[in-house]
Amino acid sequence: MSSLDQYLRLLRYITPYRFRLGMAIVCSGLVAAFSAAYAWLVRPVLDGIFISKDQTLLLVLPLALIAVAVLKSAFNYGQTYLITYVGNHVIADIRQELFRHLMKLPVSYHDANTSGRLVSRVTNDVMMMSNAVSGVLKDLFQHGLTFLAMLGVIFYQNWRLALVSMIIMPISAYTLTRVGKRMRRLATSGQERMGDMSSTIQETLAGIRMVKAYGREDAEAAKFQVNNRAFLKTMLKSNQVFSMGSSYMEVIGVVGVAAIVWYGGMLVIHGDMTPGAFFSFLAAMFMAYNPIRRLSGANNTVQQALAAAERVYEVLDLKTERDHDHGTATFGGVTRMIEFQGVSLSYNGQERTALAGIDVSIRAGEIVALVGSSGSGKTTLVSLLPRFYEPTAGQILIDGVLLSSYTLLSLRSRIGMVSQETVLFDDTIANNISFGREGASAEEIEQAARLAYAHDFILRLPDGYQTVIGERGVKLSGGERQRLAIARAILRDPPLLILDEATSALDTESERIVQLALGNLMKNRTTVVIAHRLSTIQNADRIIVLDRGRIAEVGTHDELLRRNGVYRRLHALQFQSATSV
Ligand code: ADP
Ligand code: MG
Repeated sequence: MSSLDQYLRLLRYITPYRFRLGMAIVCSGLVAAFSAAYAWLVRPVLDGIFISKDQTLLLVLPLALIAVAVLKSAFNYGQTYLITYVGNHVIADIRQELFRHLMKLPVSYHDANTSGRLVSRVTNDVMMMSNAVSGVLKDLFQHGLTFLAMLGVIFYQNWRLALVSMIIMPISAYTLTRVGKRMRRLATSGQERMGDMSSTIQETLAGIRMVKAYGREDAEAAKFQVNNRAFLKTMLKSNQVFSMGSSYMEVIGVVGVAAIVWYGGMLVIHGDMTPGAFFSFLAAMFMAYNPIRRLSGANNTVQQALAAAERVYEVLDLKTERDHDHGTATFGGVTRMIEFQGVSLSYNGQERTALAGIDVSIRAGEIVALVGSSGSGKTTLVSLLPRFYEPTAGQILIDGVLLSSYTLLSLRSRIGMVSQETVLFDDTIANNISFGREGASAEEIEQAARLAYAHDFILRLPDGYQTVIGERGVKLSGGERQRLAIARAILRDPPLLILDEATSALDTESERIVQLALGNLMKNRTTVVIAHRLSTIQNADRIIVLDRGRIAEVGTHDELLRRNGVYRRLHALQFQSATSV
């Protein structure tokens, strides 16, 4: 995408604020006009008051100056307020869109991108974009228009003198940017050298015992000398460039002024220009300097901001889950069965397949347990049901309908999940429970909490159901967190339930009560339960044993024990470890 396209895209976000932006531009124009009025007023002040000694002008012109100052300040305030308003709103809009988009991106995207990087996208990169928006709006309109207004005064006072100065100005502007570029390069390399130096210091001091023990003091000092010298050289160089640059600038500037004084003086002496016009001209020249400087610096900010914008657009342009969601059927629950037909899955960038040729059916209302050693694909298998991932091969049907024919929304709203890591948000207990069913009444929340064996401990918290959990709130034990997660699932009342090692992280005591809560949750649902401890799944209707992504065995606890296969081995292992502790 070219810079122009990126810019145009950025401008699209401004459209809702076009009225305010228009007002801002009008204000900028007026600010520029009143700035020009200052420069222009120099002429009547000099010619009228100081040379012609006009009494009326002596009164009028100071008042006019004050009037200009007041009006300019008023419009300047309006301009700054409006531009800041538009700039910040645009950025807030982009940030919101980005956040929304991030949540809709597939799980696989989030697997591949650390949350730290995404946080930086949403905060830093968007912040840098704001420089492009408000910076450019400001520079373009405020400084651009002021520069044009000054140019107007310059040409108005004397176009021939203006042409002469036009030759000098670009030369000094060029010098300025050249020196600026060189300075920036040196500053970067200075920072690198500084970094080298501090890491040498840190390393040496951290290992000071070793340095002493091996008698390396002088040798380390000599090594440091190298870094130290390199930094010194960069510093001297940048000082040299800087002072050379500013001397050069001054000479160029004075040569310019000298040329203008010479030619302007000639025009004044010959009566082609009044002294007032000449000084008005000079004033406008000086007042045009700052806008030029700002405009030439603006490009840098914009380039940086566009780089940030590119990173932001990159994310915004990624296809969301909803873009892939072509389903139309509404999922209401399992009435007959869930069928896995030859389902395989390989994670992106993973050579080994996580699931290979899974063929199994789960009947409605059945409790099916998934067991297998860690990494055998249990979590992967259940992740396919809410379509966190799509199978690489094969298909999944519910009641004879392809999983992908259901809308994502309806599918996920009818699947409940309780997993090993309970995710609680920095909010009240009540809101954490009603997370999956907003607008649930206090009674319903309490009912769910009772069934999840959470009601009693919630009442013991300082503010009961209104207690805020999370960083600034109370800390809960693992078992308590898990029971809240179960209450959340009970309230949502999903016909299809997935329990992924819901009790694995708990000690035996809390596991017992969480098991009771789970018992209430599993009533009248189709449930797939993954459990680390085989003792917890012995009453499952059927047990599916996974081994390295394949189904090794299927059967009831007793059948599988008799079969003398993988399950029996797993069972024996746990039995051993249980007796040995
Ligand atoms: P289990 O739940 O049985 O312990 P998983 O289903 O989590 O096993 O993992 C099965 C295999 O897939 C493992 O080899 C694991 O490393 C890999 N895996 C799991 N999740 C991902 C992921 N998001 N990206 C890449 N590989 C994964
Ligand atoms: Mg797992």
